[in-house]
Amino acid sequence: MPSICWQPLLTGVAPLTNIAPGNTTTAPDYNANLLQAELVRVRAERDALLEQLGQIPRLPPSHEYDTRTRLREDKICGNNRNKNAWCAWHDSARLKADKVRAERTLSCKCTFEEALLEEELARNGVGSLKTPKALEALNAGGEKVVRLHPSLRKGLLRLLEERYNYRDGDFDVDPTTGQWVDGQRPEDLMAADVGTETSDQA
Ligand SMILES: [Zn+2]
Repeated sequence: MPSICWQPLLTGVAPLTNIAPGNTTTAPDYNANLLQAELVRVRAERDALLEQLGQIPRLPPSHEYDTRTRLREDKICGNNRNKNAWCAWHDSARLKADKVRAERTLSCKCTFEEALLEEELARNGVGSLKTPKALEALNAGGEKVVRLHPSLRKGLLRLLEERYNYRDGDFDVDPTTGQWVDGQRPEDLMAADVGTETSDQA
């Protein structure tokens, strides 16, 4: 193994980058002033980064998340007059209602969380597939509504939760201010109808 000859305090002004790749037999030429300058630069970068991190807006408090989600569940996952509840996709798929429903699950077996994400995605224009009912409406000159296919939506939700700790509401926070976006504060939702396509189909 070649010995390494370090000459840490040579006075030559050779930048650290002058070391040839793979060269382990000669020491880099550098001096204390360069090292000092490098140290100052790295510290300045670190301080700037720490300051930047400190400026990342905090998220709204957890109780506001909870309030919003409860309100959204009431509106999006609530039963219709036939005591059924559908996600928007399955509401237009004319399924037969599943009589036995697990807790926090809709008549179509989609979970509350999946239904909430579906609404969230649709509101943000995500979902290239149109539900049959939306297509009907579109053909009749109605509004174009996009929804994500349930199997894609289920996989996306799992990934978001596992990898990013996603919770309902995250997409409604302005990342630059840490505040709820317009119309999505808990008090806004108390007053407004967030909209659901759930119908009274049996
Ligand atoms: Zn469903």
